Amino acid sequence: MAQGDHEPVEVEAVEVEAVEPEEAPPLDPEVEARRVAAMSFIRRLGDPVLKSRATPVDRFDDSLRRQASRMAGIMHDALGVGLAAPQLGISQRLLVYRVGPDAPVTVLANPELEWASGEVELGEEGCLSIPGIVVDVDRPVYVRVRGLDEEGEERVVEASGLEARVIQHEIDHLDGVLILERTSREERKRALRELREAEQRRDEAA
Ligand code: ZN
Repeated sequence: MAQGDHEPVEVEAVEVEAVEPEEAPPLDPEVEARRVAAMSFIRRLGDPVLKSRATPVDRFDDSLRRQASRMAGIMHDALGVGLAAPQLGISQRLLVYRVGPDAPVTVLANPELEWASGEVELGEEGCLSIPGIVVDVDRPVYVRVRGLDEEGEERVVEASGLEARVIQHEIDHLDGVLILERTSREERKRALRELREAEQRRDEAA
């Protein structure tokens, strides 16, 4: 999920400048260069890996820990708040997230949504795999998720608000579900139109 500059509930959304060109402050050139490099590793809408159900993690070895730490690095550089392994083309049930600049990175393998509140909230979400797009998504406000950390130790996360939203967004990636399938028909049509228009502008500029 990507972060925004206006709504605290926004998920995974980077490239806010594409949505509100006149309001977004320019990024420091070094930060921007790192962001562009990180984004080049991230699979985009249309890539079949984003539509597939990922396979459970079954080995908690150094290679898994390296992968989790690489994911955390790419998430950080891409200015995201969450990232799921399929977004890097790896069909594994592994996700990382960090909901605040000072918060620790949480790694969850094989996460299961154990409980979700009946109370839901509409919030804006962006996705590193659909840059430039923000749509409204209804999500339960409170969730309990059970999974494993990078050492294979059991981990139970009780989350609310943005953290709950990010976790649900990333678990959706493990199931091959994108925010375009979680929003209203009107929102989806608008988002797809914006994507097409952005593509046209890129083609014209090229
Ligand atoms: Zn996403």
